[in-house]
Amino acid sequence: MRPWAETASDVAGTSRTSEKIALLAEYLRSLDPDSLAVACVFFTGRPFPAADPRSAGVGWAAVREAVERVASARPGAFGEVYDRSSDPGRAAYDLLAARDAERERLGERVTHPDASLPEVQAAFAAIVEARRPAARVDLLAALLERLDPLAAMYVVKVLGGELRIGLREGLVESAIGSAFGRPVAEVRHAVMVTGDVGEAARLARDDRLREARPSLFRPLQPMLASPARDADEIARRMPAPMWAEDKYDGIRAQMHKLGEDVRLYSRDLHDVTRQFPDVADAARPMSWDGILDGELLVMDDASILPFARLQNRLGRVAPSPAMLAEVPAGYVIFDAIALSPAPGEPVIPLLDAPLTERRARLESLERPDRIVLGHLEHPDSAAGLDAAFDAARARGNEGLVVKDPTSLYTPGRRGLAWLKLKKALATLDCVVVGVEVGHGKRHGVLSDYTFAVRDDRPGHEGALVTVGKAYSGLTDAEIAEMTRWFEAHTLRRLGRYRLVEPTVVVEVAFDRIQASTRHASGYAMRFPRIARLRPDKRPDEADTLSTVAGLAT
Ligand code: AMP
Repeated sequence: MRPWAETASDVAGTSRTSEKIALLAEYLRSLDPDSLAVACVFFTGRPFPAADPRSAGVGWAAVREAVERVASARPGAFGEVYDRSSDPGRAAYDLLAARDAERERLGERVTHPDASLPEVQAAFAAIVEARRPAARVDLLAALLERLDPLAAMYVVKVLGGELRIGLREGLVESAIGSAFGRPVAEVRHAVMVTGDVGEAARLARDDRLREARPSLFRPLQPMLASPARDADEIARRMPAPMWAEDKYDGIRAQMHKLGEDVRLYSRDLHDVTRQFPDVADAARPMSWDGILDGELLVMDDASILPFARLQNRLGRVAPSPAMLAEVPAGYVIFDAIALSPAPGEPVIPLLDAPLTERRARLESLERPDRIVLGHLEHPDSAAGLDAAFDAARARGNEGLVVKDPTSLYTPGRRGLAWLKLKKALATLDCVVVGVEVGHGKRHGVLSDYTFAVRDDRPGHEGALVTVGKAYSGLTDAEIAEMTRWFEAHTLRRLGRYRLVEPTVVVEVAFDRIQASTRHASGYAMRFPRIARLRPDKRPDEADTLSTVAGLAT
């Protein structure tokens, strides 16, 4: 881990992209295949490959406790140093370096045994798989004991999902290309289809990049849509005729099917099949094998019911038969990632086929009840789009996702090939950074949230800047549950206000955004209200300061 950490420090130490790539490439060339795969995954700021559901990471409480224990620091010390840098890795470094300095002052010769990259990743696996929080702390402390402060700092950063060394995933891909003399476009493609930068690095090393394929039961990052302000903007950007699909307000899910084995994955790549046994049962008899993209919804026969009903079913690992009967779920398919050409034949990837072809393949699939195809129209003007939008709303859907019919399926990318047009009301996904007890009926519960967006200005990436504060619009049960969570994840109490771990994402609705000095972002929302919790989104998927600036009036 030490050489990896030194390379990361060197990368952080230069702002020149070409130098960052050269430093990484040289280091990657020196590694054996197993270490290479892990090194690349860690450089993307993740403990596991993107397609690995274990990527969820480790809670802050475990990091805080383990670091305090290993550094022999008093409880609360971590929170205090964290306040100086807002960076948990840096906080770990500060405490562990202080421990080493103290030991040396007492005449001890301080050495650290270090751990290999596969050993560190194996320790991460044991940590995320440990059931009891105390076991997680023990395992993390055992790992940190072996590392020097620099390596420990990066272990904490990787676990937290953020390196802050000015390294975008694209640079890691460039470094892999440069290390092994392969075209970067081929590396990028392999990363996209396998969902694993480590696997792509191995393939690049062995000159087998063209063999990269999506695999069944290894979910890919879903393709994302960019927000559009109105129909005029979309009509300007998209060539006619446009493909306007209804935007369904449910839960994004990827369906993987091989014979009788059907699994559903959420957009954060968790296996949610147990929550939707009715959908898996409905899909099982279908004759195709492959990977589909779509939305899980409450569906009564073929009609779609409001999202609020689905919320009753969520949060339960396995719904009861009564719940399944009361709130039946269905699946709207809107894309095909891979399909068998005929029943029983091997699955063929469709990522590089245009949407027209992918849709044609979907239309030829036989579908049982409650597995339906997304509604599609072909408007050729802004006025036509407006009419399609109103019709989608009349069908009870949220709006439109307008797609370029020639576009390919690009996992994890938010490009201009898909543009989403939502209800007039704007919403932003924000991270809760502080909470307060409410007033009146909400006295005694933490119902007032202060939330932030991601700063994406060069040199500030990764920081969170506050943009508003709102009384929670959540249900009493949700507020009670979140109160317990925030109490357990308070970083610091400042009178009534609690600074909390910045990990909860909420969708905030508002009327307008204006420049203001009230919040650190330089903007404030008018009439903000919490529309819903977004447990499916990680804080690094929250909206950015530039999106806020774009919406400001
Ligand atoms: P948002 O959650 O507002 O960022 O909007 C993007 C989400 O819309 C996707 O992640 C999907 O869950 C959902 N969605 C609903 N209908 C469609 C569709 N026809 N095409 C693509 N995404 C859709």
